[in-house]
Amino acid sequence: MYLHPELETLSRPEIEVLQLERLKKTVAQCMNSPFYRKRFADHHIKPEDIRSLDDLKKIPFTTKQDLRDNYPFGLAAVPMEQVVRLHSSSGTTGTPTVILHTQKDLDEWANAVARCLYMVGLRPGDIFQNSSGYGMFTGGLGFQYGAERLGMLTVPAAAGNTKRQIKFITDFGTTALHAIPSYAGRLYEVMEEMGIDPKRDTKLHTLIIGAEPHSEEQRRRIEEMLGVKAYNSFGMSEMCGPGVAFECKKQNGLHIWEDYYIVEIVDPQTLEPVPEGEVGELVLTTINREAMPLLRYRTRDLTRILPGDCPCGRHHIRLDRMKGRSDDMMILKGVNIFPIQIETILMQFAELGNDYLITLTNEEANDLMTVEVELKEFCDDYPRLQALTKEITRQLKDEILITPIVRLVPKGSLPKQEGKAVRVNDLRKTLI
Ligand code: ADP
Ligand code: ZN
Repeated sequence: MYLHPELETLSRPEIEVLQLERLKKTVAQCMNSPFYRKRFADHHIKPEDIRSLDDLKKIPFTTKQDLRDNYPFGLAAVPMEQVVRLHSSSGTTGTPTVILHTQKDLDEWANAVARCLYMVGLRPGDIFQNSSGYGMFTGGLGFQYGAERLGMLTVPAAAGNTKRQIKFITDFGTTALHAIPSYAGRLYEVMEEMGIDPKRDTKLHTLIIGAEPHSEEQRRRIEEMLGVKAYNSFGMSEMCGPGVAFECKKQNGLHIWEDYYIVEIVDPQTLEPVPEGEVGELVLTTINREAMPLLRYRTRDLTRILPGDCPCGRHHIRLDRMKGRSDDMMILKGVNIFPIQIETILMQFAELGNDYLITLTNEEANDLMTVEVELKEFCDDYPRLQALTKEITRQLKDEILITPIVRLVPKGSLPKQEGKAVRVNDLRKTLI
């Protein structure tokens, strides 16, 4: 059984007392890292200056660039003999970064993941299948150890080979599956081709979806297609991996475990805290890690803290569904647009499938956006397709304030990725 269930239900004052105690310990630990020692010296701060949670603001931010500049081991805060594993981010946005773990770090990480899985009702007796890639991608081993810690029978199916994935689900009676949202749609399509009805022919009741931005509409689709409850899971390699924030059964925001992380939301431009409840960049400080603690790490993910208490009774604050990363933002004709805004509109049309691709081009000084989206079923009723295209274009324009070119394409025709879905293809040339 997983450790420390009492920390899951701490009251607000108890959370803050624990956070301060752990923050002080973490800052002291950081002084073993050449990177933080220099950072503190350069900014004339001493560990003793951190006396309250508010004092955290005295510490400069840590960025992905810092991790790259000190690649691979420059942030180690323990002797390397104590490091038992490293993970590397999947490098979606440039050079990979490395995160180091002691055995205690791995144990705590497994506990966090187990806590998340327990929170959504999974128990020993459940059969948990993981369709994440194993290896450097933290969704593999992260969920593996967490699910084992909880005491479920685990099926480490890993990524790829969808037919085999489905055979495992039916043969082993898999009840819970971890899949990235874009892959959940793919699974359903292949099930259909194989004549398998997930509601009739499988025991699936819970899906864990995360690792990439997705809309509420996409979640509802996954739930309906597969006949499951689907819970949003948020994590990143720099914060261990999965297990950072997770929805509870109420599905109204993701509880972030504040005995592991201190949360700040800042304006990405000014780096000042945003007013309560507003969207900004998520900044996290690890307070339960030995090998490579990170202070005020700028995640580049945009979200907000949801106000009020969760009816589930847990007091760890809730993050809103991620809006995307600051670097996912497209700027067209001076308008800021996130792919998730487009997805939210597309997924409301029952005629459309789950896959879409946004291509950006420019001719002379004119930015153009083309949205290709797969149809759910074959259709050659051209007047109907035309009317549908027109309506999608209208709704997109309402949302993003520019008029995209919408193309309805046959099911299965857009490129499929093994890992996280690529939603934007920016082919714009720099114009002089
Ligand atoms: P990479 O940074 O190379 O993609 P990671 O696997 O560490 O490698 O990815 C973490 C990132 O994935 C997060 O910073 C966030 O942008 C995205 N992400 C993870 N979980 C979610 C989620 N539930 N919703 C939206 N985005 C997510
Ligand atoms: Zn809750």
